[in-house]
Amino acid sequence: MYHQKQPLIQDIRRSPGQNWFSQNLTDPGGIFKFTADAADKQLINFYRNESIQMMTHVAVEDTLQMTPDIQKLPAPLTPEPSSAGSPQAQPTQTFTMPDVQTGSVSRTTFDRIMLQHFGVSRVFNGTRSDQESYLRSASGNPGLSFNPTSWTDWNPGSDSEIYAHIINAFRSFAVTFGGIPPVNEIGFFNEKYSYSHSSSGVVRERGTAAAFGGGKLLIYPLMTMSAKTLPSGRSENSPAHLTLPLRSQTVTRIITHELGHGLVEIGLTPTGTTSSGGAAPVPQLMNDYRRTAGWTTGSNPQLYDIGVSAVQTAIAAGRVPDARYQINQTNWNQPNWIEQPVTEYMTTHPSEDFPEAIMTYVTQPSLLQSRSPGRFRFIRQRAHQLGPLLRQIVPAPPAPGDYPVITRDYAIV
Ligand SMILES: [Zn+2]
Repeated sequence: MYHQKQPLIQDIRRSPGQNWFSQNLTDPGGIFKFTADAADKQLINFYRNESIQMMTHVAVEDTLQMTPDIQKLPAPLTPEPSSAGSPQAQPTQTFTMPDVQTGSVSRTTFDRIMLQHFGVSRVFNGTRSDQESYLRSASGNPGLSFNPTSWTDWNPGSDSEIYAHIINAFRSFAVTFGGIPPVNEIGFFNEKYSYSHSSSGVVRERGTAAAFGGGKLLIYPLMTMSAKTLPSGRSENSPAHLTLPLRSQTVTRIITHELGHGLVEIGLTPTGTTSSGGAAPVPQLMNDYRRTAGWTTGSNPQLYDIGVSAVQTAIAAGRVPDARYQINQTNWNQPNWIEQPVTEYMTTHPSEDFPEAIMTYVTQPSLLQSRSPGRFRFIRQRAHQLGPLLRQIVPAPPAPGDYPVITRDYAIV
């Protein structure tokens, strides 16, 4: 389920040792709700106990990531018949891949590259007025007034490595899918506020690193301070280690996750003029994904191990599978699952499962393939369908029959 009318999909990420919270968090559209639980505490303890030791491993892994994964790909799959209809009209402007960025990048260069290479027309440090405008849009109340007791704009700086990481993340996504979803604005905000329809008020939210919706990518300081972990591999006899990432990896993962939301948005947004336009290009995208990943239907979807044939049968028939196959935020990394999630966050809701899978497909495809072969195959097949809908940066990926091709001309730095 994806509420495209909601301007923002919340992302909740935790920073080890700080910004850790226990209250319920609700996304602006009421799409899902979850409570941070014991698994978070374990993760935080993990950081406290093992962070120094793990840093060594990260450095090794970071080097290995530059090695192509091509040899590990399975035999080509039969392409699914396309149900996409006509691709959406592409902007007449042509875009090209920028160079890989290293070290610090000036804000001037960042703004220019985002505009010239990715078509982002506005990069800005969000003001109170900008925030107010978003809240008015989200609430549907053009007269809504937003005057917090304190407000400061966030300017990431005239020079920052963060700019380089964001550019490289866009590159990585474009290399994989041939383009990027139409990101029109990038805004830097110190804090996230959302409008709660249930309480008819503005809610200040903590723990958000980035958010995407309606062509707007919003970035918060937490993105630069958090650690977006991934398992070191498949959980074989015990839960796989969660490896402490470099900051560049965290930023790349978060940004490619947000662009994953953008893939959903462009797949489900009706073509033509706004809400009264034609059919969505891929209207069944998320329904198909739910079945592939093992989610039940309905407003409170639950995840089951789709690698189990009895679960496949139940999901296909619209029945709830046996409870012993249910995957949740506590047991997600257990080795007994056949289709293993790559993050705890992936298990919170299908609308976050998909971007997490996209993130992993872009940044560490072999990890996704080894843990979640069903998700991997789904994305590989749909890349051919979704690629033409994107803002083209490089030629669209070839049809699945032409694989193996996961191009790795970039380095995750
Ligand atoms: Zn998300």
